Amino acid sequence: MRAVDYEVAVLGLGGVGAAAFHALGTRGISVLGIDQFEPVHDRGSSHGQSRIFRIAYFEHPDYVPMGVYSRSRWTELDRRSDKRVFIPTGGAWIGPRDGRHVGESLHSARQHGLAHELLEPGEAMRRWPALRIPEDHVCFHETAAGIVCPEHAIEVLLGEGVASGGRLLTGERIERVEPEEDCILVRTERSSHRVGSVVMALGPWMKRFLPDLDVELEPQRQLLGWTRPGRPDLVEEGRLPVWLFADHDESIQYGFPRCPGLPGPEGVKVARHCRAERCDPDTMRREVDDADERMVLDGLASRVPAAFGPVTSLKTCLYTMSEDGHFIIDRHPQDHRVVLAAGFSGHGFKFLPALGTALAELALDGGTSMPVGFLGLDRLLHRQG
Ligand SMILES: Cc1cc2nc3c(=O)[nH]c(=O)nc-3n(C[C@H](O)[C@H](O)[C@H](O)COP(=O)(O)OP(=O)(O)OC[C@H]3O[C@@H](n4cnc5c(N)ncnc54)[C@H](O)[C@@H]3O)c2cc1C
Repeated sequence: MRAVDYEVAVLGLGGVGAAAFHALGTRGISVLGIDQFEPVHDRGSSHGQSRIFRIAYFEHPDYVPMGVYSRSRWTELDRRSDKRVFIPTGGAWIGPRDGRHVGESLHSARQHGLAHELLEPGEAMRRWPALRIPEDHVCFHETAAGIVCPEHAIEVLLGEGVASGGRLLTGERIERVEPEEDCILVRTERSSHRVGSVVMALGPWMKRFLPDLDVELEPQRQLLGWTRPGRPDLVEEGRLPVWLFADHDESIQYGFPRCPGLPGPEGVKVARHCRAERCDPDTMRREVDDADERMVLDGLASRVPAAFGPVTSLKTCLYTMSEDGHFIIDRHPQDHRVVLAAGFSGHGFKFLPALGTALAELALDGGTSMPVGFLGLDRLLHRQG
């Protein structure tokens, strides 16, 4: 039997791949990380200055332990780095009293004993004068919430992985992943590598490498916007938490306080979490137009008038939607040496430390101490009808 070149290869070095590379490298595993671009780039899903971190999860309470684990890891990473990786700001989640988002956040918080407050509109607006909250809405305040900076996080994760002995191969496109009897052969456009197992974290490009797996992974074109705020004093870090307004139609408008020391455009960032146009990550329209600007700004003047102002920058980004909006973390049903990380559906970044640990353990041991069983492929492959 010929020896392998690396114990594990991590395919794709966006946020998820970077976290797996870090978890493997810092455990002393011989690991190769490969990406078609130079990290950190703006062609996939892991760029744009900031990501919301929250734990009282309205999507499903089973994410909460991963959130608790990740928060302490983000805090440690932030302390070790000279860059801002994690900024604890608290979070104000605002929605109709009878709406799902506030109701399910409350449910997760109560089930897992998380610190939280339920604030009436008047009280929330006294604390954070930038916000305007209608009388029939309520504000769920999560003290553990904050901001993760994707550019800084990936830089630090890859940097620590390399410092521990991991190797990076960037600017090289992976063309094939071929399972052989005694190894997995990873072929790029210029080289090939024999490895013991692979973690596939190819973001919106993932489906191309899984033609036979009957799961939906839909890339969608999304937008990020920045404004020159009308009242900068009210939207500075310390005066405004991360905020989100949930609509009855399930879409969410959200935004961030202005935090010094983050990369990217000037201004305050606002965006929308919603269904969007299906796209191909290689040919997606990356130019932006007036309709994109209107979509990002719509509702801002009445919800956070202090943040409203001329748009200073608009950027595209990609979601990869799974069928049910939950992640896919599992071993490939046909070859257990292939670990899949896919379908992050616009909410994966906050959990990178937990995901990195789970993916590393699955690649090395076949199982994981992280409670990710609810994210397995079974729920999608064995569905009825
Ligand atoms: C607008 C927007 C807002 C978001 N907001 C939040 C938020 O507030 N909170 C939160 O938790 N999450 C948020 N998310 C989601 C989060 O950012 C994503 O879940 C996460 O970044 C997904 O990372 P990834 O590594 O799976 O994908 P990617 O970052 O796309 O990485 C995939 C990598 O694979 C590489 N690759 C693909 N094919 C090949 C190939 N053939 N050869 C070599 N390399 C290849 C790509 O170059 C890329 O680097 C948001 C996402 C977007 C787009």
